[in-house]
Amino acid sequence: MAPSPTPSSACVLPSEGRQKKRLKRHFCFLFYSLNKALKTFSKLFNQLLVSKIHNLNKSWIHGQCIADLAPRLLEAIPKRRVKRRTFQEALNGCSWVLDIKGARTVGVIVDFLHLWDLLYNFELEPDVEDVHIWRFSASGQYSAKSAYESFFLGSTQFGPYERIWNTWAPPKCRFFLWLVAHNRCWTADRLARRGLPHPEQCPLCDQEDETINHLLVSCVFTRQFWYFLLRQVGLHSLSPQPSDTSFDSWWEKASGATSGLIQKGLNSLIVLGAWTLWNHRNRCIFYGITPNLGGVVTLAGEERQSWNLAGAKGLSSLTTPLFGG
Ligand SMILES: [Zn+2]
Repeated sequence: MAPSPTPSSACVLPSEGRQKKRLKRHFCFLFYSLNKALKTFSKLFNQLLVSKIHNLNKSWIHGQCIADLAPRLLEAIPKRRVKRRTFQEALNGCSWVLDIKGARTVGVIVDFLHLWDLLYNFELEPDVEDVHIWRFSASGQYSAKSAYESFFLGSTQFGPYERIWNTWAPPKCRFFLWLVAHNRCWTADRLARRGLPHPEQCPLCDQEDETINHLLVSCVFTRQFWYFLLRQVGLHSLSPQPSDTSFDSWWEKASGATSGLIQKGLNSLIVLGAWTLWNHRNRCIFYGITPNLGGVVTLAGEERQSWNLAGAKGLSSLTTPLFGG
């Protein structure tokens, strides 16, 4: 009888070797990413912190650094020297002039003359300590709060984010609503702007141009759809009116008229309705089916039951119909 095969060192070692190499590669990548992030943060921090020469009662070179005042000159100085040179060394006997090693272009000479005027008669007083000023607080004092808030400078507000991302719905449906909020759906108006083939009229009503807002809120077909869908849960009073021309505005208004679990359920139902309408529109265009209001309302009702069984928070609180579905 042949002996059972046992793992030999020749079989084990290459596997371990590969594993070690893989781990090493991962750690190198992590270290590289972390190192890069730290360098970026350090650079940003240095830009936000200004050193002030206290005794002269004015910021270092009128509140600006050399990179702001003489960028072309700074390029002509070796980076290693820039890193190591202190203010005291540079100003002592105007030795900063000797640091200029690059080509003397017109821009470098202009910057040099400008800087020379600013630094002429500039003297440091070694007995007086410098003061550091934090740009993001009125007092100039650094605080963790002001540093945290500075991360959000330049950020933009995206109003419907909470309704989209905090609503129970499959991710593909929420992503679709995110595209709707950014007007990134391939409706006829967007296709036309790019010279692509597009339907001449709205495929659901065949009366008006197709835009995402028309398709989801102001189309005659759509308004009836929302009325019948919301009537299934007794919220038909919130269905869009002819004056509603923006889907986001209507959603915000309808959602704001409810609260608690009803609001959560309504938000899920609106996501579901919008997704159902979009799919129905696509079937009309790509499969040539005829718009069918009864069919799409029934489909949305069945989908609502499925979402409810899948654990949609709030939808169960909407399942008691006040009217026939
Ligand atoms: Zn229409």
